[in-house]
Order: sequence, then C-alpha cells, then structure tokens
Amino acid sequence: MEIILAKTAGFCPGVKRAVETVYEKIGEGRMYTYGPIIHNRIVTDDLEEKGVFSISSLDEAEEGSEIILRSHGVVPEVYDRIREKGLRFTDLTCPYVKKIHNIVRDNYNEGRKIIIVGNPTHPEVVGINGYCENTAVIAESKDDLEKIESDGKYSLVVQTTFNTGIFDEMIKSLPKELDIKIFNTICSATEKRQKEAEQISRTVDYMIVLGDKNSSNTQKLYQISKKNCENTFLFEKICIKQLKSFEKNVKIGITAGASTPPCIIEEAIKQ
Ligand code: SF4
Repeated sequence: MEIILAKTAGFCPGVKRAVETVYEKIGEGRMYTYGPIIHNRIVTDDLEEKGVFSISSLDEAEEGSEIILRSHGVVPEVYDRIREKGLRFTDLTCPYVKKIHNIVRDNYNEGRKIIIVGNPTHPEVVGINGYCENTAVIAESKDDLEKIESDGKYSLVVQTTFNTGIFDEMIKSLPKELDIKIFNTICSATEKRQKEAEQISRTVDYMIVLGDKNSSNTQKLYQISKKNCENTFLFEKICIKQLKSFEKNVKIGITAGASTPPCIIEEAIKQ
C-alpha cells in the first residue's frame, strides 16, 4: 500500500492562529468563542472539556467575559454590541477575510453594488455582507449571476474557500456589458490545497479527505477529488475498517481540510 500525503493537508495559517490563540488563552478567565472556533468537533469538544464554550448570541456571555471572534469574521454590528455589553474581545478574523471586508466597504461607499460569490449561509459570507449593509447579491452558481440586472456598477468578491474551478466558470459567464470590478479573493492556502487534491486524486486508486462534514472547504476537497477518483471518501478521522477493505497493492492519496487538526493526519499515516 503506497500512501501519498498532500503537503497542504491540515490547518491553514488563519485557522492555526485562531486555534493556537484560544489554547494559549485558557486559564485567563471566562471566555467564549462566537460560533465554533473551527468546523471540527474533535477540537470543539476538547475546548468544551477545558471550559471554552461556543455561543451563538452575545446575550449568553456574562459581563466582563471575553469573546473570541473566529477566523470567519463577523458583521460590524457585533463589535458595537460587544462594547455595549461590557465584554472583552480578541479578534482572530483571518487577515484574508479582513481584506475582503475592506474591499466591500470601500466599493460600497463608492456607490457600487456588491456581489459575493459563495454560500449565502456560511458565516464568512454573512459577515462580508455586513460591510455593505446586507445589500449584496449572493451567487453560488452561474444561474444566480444570470439574474443580475445590467444597469448599475458592481464589485464582486468571492468566499476565501470557494472552488477555484467553479469560480473561473462563473466569471466567464458574466455578461460582457456588465460594469464590474472583479476581486479574486480566494485565499492562496485554499488554492494550493485544491490544486494538490486535484493532482493527487488523478494518480491514486483511493482518495481520503479528512475533515468535518460541516466544513465547507473539506466538502470542496471531496468534490474535487471525487471528479477524478471514484473511490473518494470523506472521513472525520481515519476509518480503519474501511482501510482494511482496500486491496493490498493500491495507491492511496490523503488530503485534509483547513480545519483538520494535525493529530488526525498523523494518525492516518501511521495506519
Ligand atoms: S482558508 Fe484562507 S482565508 Fe480562510 S482562515 Fe484559512 S488562511 Fe484564512
């Protein structure tokens, strides 16, 4: 059995910084993450055991406690509410996401309409939309872009973890007459990870994507790999039973989402 492990598997810089900072802060007093720090139950369960809980509303936090803002970013009103409620906070919004907030705010203030390519319910997209007063057109597919009226000036940004291939297709489908500024804001960590998954999945008999089923970037790695390798599996952690069912002389590719902890990947290659 030959194993090819993707060099880009696992935590991206934004997630690494967020997770490490939370662990470093344990013991400094009451602390909550505003939403799960990452989409990975193994990490969030461990944090709960250590007393760090995720909250979905700031009303759940006692005065004086600390709120951790995760790498996905939040709408601007969240910062106001944190201050009003007398809470402390650490902002771990990824710099790549902050950059999108600035683009959206500046372009919206110039009178341009905003288009966000991404998943409308993903917290990163919800946060970005807050920087243009929740007026953005959110497009997940070519069909969504077709509904855009050609009058007006537009600026388009894209969710950092969006599928690069689908994004390129969507951009090609935009009507030529549209007055639009396009900002490709897919982050370089995502781009490299998706490219590597694409390459490895072309050459292996089995492809394993490690990560949480709720993680958007893990799902995209699965979709990309599945196109090239019919035997692609998404596991939260390595599934010994499944591995044992593979034939002996096969090539197995392994990649992992940006929110998959290093211990899961190490465990996988030990098997
Ligand atoms: S995927 Fe990219 S943008 Fe998102 S947290 Fe990681 S480094 Fe930041």
